[in-house]
Amino acid sequence: MPQSKKVPFWRSLQTKFAMTYILIVAAVLILLNTYPVMVSQDLAYRSKETSMQNQAAVLASALATGPEALTAEGAARTVELLLGSLGVTRIVVTDPNGLVLCDFQEGTARTDTTGQYALFWELVTALQGNDVFRSGYADGVFHSRAAVPVTYRSMTQGAVYLYEYDAEQGAMLQGIQTNLRFISLVICLVTLVMGVVFAKALTRRIALLLGAIRTVREGEYSHRVSMGGGDELSRLADEFNELTGRLQTTEEVRRRFVSDASHELKTPLASIRLLTDSILQADHMDSETAREFLTDIGDEAERLTRITEKLLTLTRLDTAPAAAAVPVDVGAVVERVEHMLTPLARAVEVELELRLQPGCLIAATEDELYQIAFNLMENAVKYNLPGGKVYVTLQGDARQVRLRVEDTGVGIPEEDLPKIFDRFYRVDKARSRAAGGTGLGLSIVWDTVRRYGGTVTARRREPEGTCFEVVFPRLAEKGGTQR
Ligand code: ADP
Repeated sequence: MPQSKKVPFWRSLQTKFAMTYILIVAAVLILLNTYPVMVSQDLAYRSKETSMQNQAAVLASALATGPEALTAEGAARTVELLLGSLGVTRIVVTDPNGLVLCDFQEGTARTDTTGQYALFWELVTALQGNDVFRSGYADGVFHSRAAVPVTYRSMTQGAVYLYEYDAEQGAMLQGIQTNLRFISLVICLVTLVMGVVFAKALTRRIALLLGAIRTVREGEYSHRVSMGGGDELSRLADEFNELTGRLQTTEEVRRRFVSDASHELKTPLASIRLLTDSILQADHMDSETAREFLTDIGDEAERLTRITEKLLTLTRLDTAPAAAAVPVDVGAVVERVEHMLTPLARAVEVELELRLQPGCLIAATEDELYQIAFNLMENAVKYNLPGGKVYVTLQGDARQVRLRVEDTGVGIPEEDLPKIFDRFYRVDKARSRAAGGTGLGLSIVWDTVRRYGGTVTARRREPEGTCFEVVFPRLAEKGGTQR
């Protein structure tokens, strides 16, 4: 028996499930932690660029009042005038050579840098006639620098440099970052816990199913799994239960069949044994008695032959593919059966009456249809009473052919009707045995009728007797079943 192998960790559904989960969550968290910050930084950069370049341009145009060169006093005066409206940290104005004319830091004039070269890259670039803006974000602070040339009629008279130290927007950005990290951490923890719980629940349910499969494999067909949830796994469990139910039924039928078959075979064998022992043990047996015993042995052997033949027929019906169906005239077959049964019917004083509609064709084989009609009509004669009747009616409509075999015989009790098509089932064992029955005839009828797409039913007939009805799909005269 194959042993259940343990699934390697890296191939287990739990690992795959957890890995997928972790990867998706990681991707979402990376995006959550980068994209909003990048967008906010970009927005801050753009707004600073616009505002600082505007401020620098306003100051530059205020300084460029005429063709004369800028002076330190003049520049300081202009800057002081505009200082209130310029919200920057540092303002430096230089002459065309880059020498500082005035330098204001946080609103206060610095004198230590006046007359010195302002070696800022931005200023050097501005003195070459370009507008410059640079902004950087580090340690929660925005450092922004803007520089523009002071030009009067295309003459560079100097340059203006603005520097802004912005910790406020930086703090806001940092706040967003901290919040996002916190949210990410919470998401991480929640998904981790949920992932573990889901993965465990999933594997636990799969393990439940696997366990059930193994139990059934060991032969315990009554085992069922109960799995709630209403999801695919619970559907799988339902299907499994259904399958196991069928297996159980098949197994029960098989066991019953084997035990019934052995019992049926054992009885005639025991009789043969008993009869041969009697002959062997008798010292002086007259030839008349010996002949009687031997006839009985012959009868029992014949019974055994009948049972094995019928068992073989049933096995063939179960396993062999159906023989090629040909158009068969049901009426003609019923007439052959009647011909065959007339001596028996006469012997038990039963009259057969046939009402057959001509031209009722079905797709089957003649031998198998003969079997069906023979079994039903023979039973109707066998389980009848002297003076009784058997009515065989054949009718066809556009789609179906209906063969009805009714008798005025002993009848079948209502509670036995559902079981009479079971193998070896007999209502009255003694009567069946006396009539040479095997309890297999109706099973053969059932299986054969099914094989050709038909149905067979049995019901009580009013006022007495039984009515069997077989319905087949009708075959059109030119061939092919009618639709
Ligand atoms: P058997 O070989 O015993 O006749 P069947 O399978 O043909 O086996 O029939 C099963 C049982 O159903 C019979 O033993 C009998 O008890 C009952 N039965 C079948 N046909 C009739 C009938 N026409 N009237 C009464 N009982 C019947």
